Amino acid sequence: MKNDITDQIISCLIKEKLITDEQVRHAKKIKSKIVSSKRLLDILKDLKYVTDKQIKTALAHHKHSLKIGDLLVEFGYITNEKLEAALRIQKSSKGKRLGEILVEQNFITEDDFRDLLYIQFGFLHIEPDIQEVDKELISKASIKLYRHYSILPMYQQKGKPLIAFADPFDEKSLKGATEIFGSDFIIAVASHNAIFSSLNKVEHGSKTTIIKEDPDSVQAIVDSIIQSAILEEASDIHFEPFKNKFAVRFRQDGILVHYKDFPLEIRPMLTSRIKIMSSANIAEKRMHQGGRISFDFNGTEYDLRVSFYVSVFGEKIVLRILNNMNQLIGIEHIGMSPKLLKRFLQDALEIPSGVVLVTGPTGSGKTTTVYSCINHIKKPEISIITAEEPVEYIVKDVIQCSINPSINLTYKETLRHIVRQDPDVIVIGEIRDTYSADVAVHAALTGHKVLTTFHTEDSIGGLIRLMNMDIDAFLVSSTVVCVLAQRLLRKVCDKCAEPYHLTPEDLYRLEYTPADVAKSQFAKGKGCSRCRYTGYKGRTAVFEMLILNEFVRDAILNKKSSYEIRKISIETSGLLTLLEDAIHKASSGITTIEEIFRCVPKLIKPRSIQEIKRLQGN
Ligand SMILES: [Zn+2]
Repeated sequence: MKNDITDQIISCLIKEKLITDEQVRHAKKIKSKIVSSKRLLDILKDLKYVTDKQIKTALAHHKHSLKIGDLLVEFGYITNEKLEAALRIQKSSKGKRLGEILVEQNFITEDDFRDLLYIQFGFLHIEPDIQEVDKELISKASIKLYRHYSILPMYQQKGKPLIAFADPFDEKSLKGATEIFGSDFIIAVASHNAIFSSLNKVEHGSKTTIIKEDPDSVQAIVDSIIQSAILEEASDIHFEPFKNKFAVRFRQDGILVHYKDFPLEIRPMLTSRIKIMSSANIAEKRMHQGGRISFDFNGTEYDLRVSFYVSVFGEKIVLRILNNMNQLIGIEHIGMSPKLLKRFLQDALEIPSGVVLVTGPTGSGKTTTVYSCINHIKKPEISIITAEEPVEYIVKDVIQCSINPSINLTYKETLRHIVRQDPDVIVIGEIRDTYSADVAVHAALTGHKVLTTFHTEDSIGGLIRLMNMDIDAFLVSSTVVCVLAQRLLRKVCDKCAEPYHLTPEDLYRLEYTPADVAKSQFAKGKGCSRCRYTGYKGRTAVFEMLILNEFVRDAILNKKSSYEIRKISIETSGLLTLLEDAIHKASSGITTIEEIFRCVPKLIKPRSIQEIKRLQGN
């Protein structure tokens, strides 16, 4: 099957006299000598016999029977697995086009797909220019009707009308064009956005647009985008201005997913609407700015933080939905193994004073963990007070302060006052400078419990960085009780999970022998409608918990290197590294090896799975 496609393309290239038989033989010889499975076409390109563009043009000029899916794979736009996943979706969705599905699932961009359609059917691919639109031709029907059929009549070519189609395979469009222009027309392909924006320009002249007179519809569009994001449990909404479209994407389970593209014409109105909603300056278009939206939906008030960022094609807007997570997660559900959780509670969280540091990069779930901790330790007889930027969830019976530098309510100012509030527990959203580190350490020294977060790779890195912030090693060793490093990994979708066998490369990267992973049950989702064909649904955290026992304290006082501190922690406090906790979760099918390589650092060689399981207590 696969060779057949390559052969067809090769014969096409030979017919076009782009390559010779001799060159093909040479390329085949090379292919037989190399170990990796490189495509013959790629070898021909590497040898500079032919360019990608020449191949595509040659194919467009020749009749052939190549399927669009095979072309996509052959040209390296998508993998075979993605094609199969898309074909499966196509089966279960009535009447959807393969291209539509591929774009929707983020497998390929609309532009790339169009590029290949052009090759497959030899269609002319155009960027419509309204200057070229033949007034007489377009007056044959109403703009409304063209919009309905997603077509744009352009001009006469060799006595035949040339019509741009958003989808030349759509029966409705073809039938519509036939009704208006008869059956003899030339099909060209243009993007959906380009067709709509040209139709708008023809209808209203080049300045005005369809919805300018209808502010209600702009409001409805923005509202429905935010509502969809809430329903799909997205954490952020991105509005991205590009040269030819205004794209909207959602961040779901940490990954950006395509939601919808809008024509450029409505970008200014959508932007203005969001500025009004977030009390930003509507006239300011040349400076970055921020704002907030309080959004009522289904009886809940959602708090959205908005950022406008000036870019070459206009302002990019990001809306972060602050309280869009299913309430607070109980500490027992944040993803710690029972043994780890027990130690964390006994040796860190439930002791009345000392600093508990949660570390990790942005988006690693630190804030969620801190909130679970607050929720766990709060009780009527103690006072908990927070300084956060911003407050992301409201926790009942806790005094929370949202830092707001724009009115000079800064971290520094807040922390100066927080200790005078007679608290038992102080939550500092993030240690970001020497001043906040100093406040945390001194509050702990005077008997307070301090919960805070820090941006570092791993647990030991957190300690080292504190000391690099001019906090004395003695203070660090006598106040910090626990450093918890974490990452969020996507969970395998349990509806479409399948067993996965580690490849030699996986083993090599983990420095494992096949015996090290015997009896493990790795898994991978093959993709289904529940997980939007990603194979993943939801996320779990993996942890590395460093409890500062006397040996570790000694090592800090003696300014040992992070490598030595790590070794001491592993030997004396049973520290499991982030990688080991992640391997443990992957080996029981909760997450995948792919996720581990994507998110978790490998600082030292992990121990065998049997050993990790023994240390985890199961
Ligand atoms: Zn699934």
